[in-house]
Amino acid sequence: MNPFNPIESLASMRHEFGEHGGVNMSIEASTTFTVMDAETMPQIFHGQRGPEAGGCYLYGRHFNPTVYVLGRQLAALEGTESGYCTASGMSAIAAVLLQLCDSGDHIVSSSTIYGGTFALLNDYLSRKANLRTTFVDTHDHDAVDAAMAEHRPKILYVESLSNPTLRVADIRALAGIAHRHGAALVVDNTFCPLMVSPAQLGADVVIHSLTKFINGASDIVAGAVCGSTQFISSMMDVHTGSLMLMGPTMDPKVAHELSLRLPHLGIRMTEHSRRAMLFASRLHELGHSVVYPGLPTHPDHELARRLFRPEFGFGGIFTIDMHSKARAFRFMELLQNRDRFGYMAVSLGYFDTLMSCSASSTASEMTDEALQRAGISPGLVRVSIGYTGTVEQRWTQMEDALRQVGPAIELPLAAACQ
Ligand code: PLP
Repeated sequence: MNPFNPIESLASMRHEFGEHGGVNMSIEASTTFTVMDAETMPQIFHGQRGPEAGGCYLYGRHFNPTVYVLGRQLAALEGTESGYCTASGMSAIAAVLLQLCDSGDHIVSSSTIYGGTFALLNDYLSRKANLRTTFVDTHDHDAVDAAMAEHRPKILYVESLSNPTLRVADIRALAGIAHRHGAALVVDNTFCPLMVSPAQLGADVVIHSLTKFINGASDIVAGAVCGSTQFISSMMDVHTGSLMLMGPTMDPKVAHELSLRLPHLGIRMTEHSRRAMLFASRLHELGHSVVYPGLPTHPDHELARRLFRPEFGFGGIFTIDMHSKARAFRFMELLQNRDRFGYMAVSLGYFDTLMSCSASSTASEMTDEALQRAGISPGLVRVSIGYTGTVEQRWTQMEDALRQVGPAIELPLAAACQ
């Protein structure tokens, strides 16, 4: 049997024709759906009828036909049985955690994750839902095993490529540990669509912030959950499902729009990665503190070579440590305001370059201690490389901005924060 190929999987999905034979699916904007005989309604409520069982729909917060197609496309992309979409990546994460856990349950999480997810786990869910999280270095498998044995969690939570430290999760090994302890492995694959397929390596649930690479134009906030049909159905259960009851519903117009961007996701990922590799290599040659999984010096380079599909490279993001907040700010200001190289903005996966200083932006929810533990220094600039302009034009701009900022001097931590 051929290994799973997400591009082939997506291409061999059933075509969804539009209402008049259109080559694109139609947008089903209705928020409520009729049935032809009254008996069907209670059957939908009891989960005996649904999109796959008789093509039955109920209400816009439950399955919507257009959103359901996008969910199936994402499931095809991730190689899972099912998938469904949400209004944001955060709502997908929160709904998955709450579906898998009850009050008093425990979660073991990687200590290097997106700041919003960290805040959700570390503070919000512990205060509001009595869910406790233990953060561990998930590269230390003995430490993960010990935390799992001690806390008996329902979930082991990781990002395939961590935000912003760009460490690669050994998904196969972590799935083994999680399953040995009776927990589900939940993987946020936002940084690596197409590059790696966590479910094929043993993950039980795969989450995406579709706001990033899958969207590609920084104009839509959206999320998705991919997993078994049983799990997705449980989240949509009319009486007990977290997506149905909390209601972070994706608008069908958004689903239609995102569906049109999936066919060129592969081309975009390849170009993001090609440029990121070029920039990271050149920065490394010049002696800058650059982190990129494609560099042989990266601690997880060999793991990334094993897990990632070569045609999509090592991702569109690298970090450069400018060794102080002041230098990082000056560097980004020059690149945005003088050169129009890119934008000082959070988020990633945009066609233009986005730059942010993680410690004072997306990771600012983390305490100084957590930042230090996660290796996020005050001058760390996360760069999501776009593909506008020519490579040489962009490289000249970056090289010049680095020259303007001047050589890095290693500073003690207190000075680096200024
Ligand atoms: N997961 C990761 C890795 C992220 O970087 C982000 C946002 O930056 C999210 C989840 C949250 O996604 P959203 O902003 O779509 O809610």
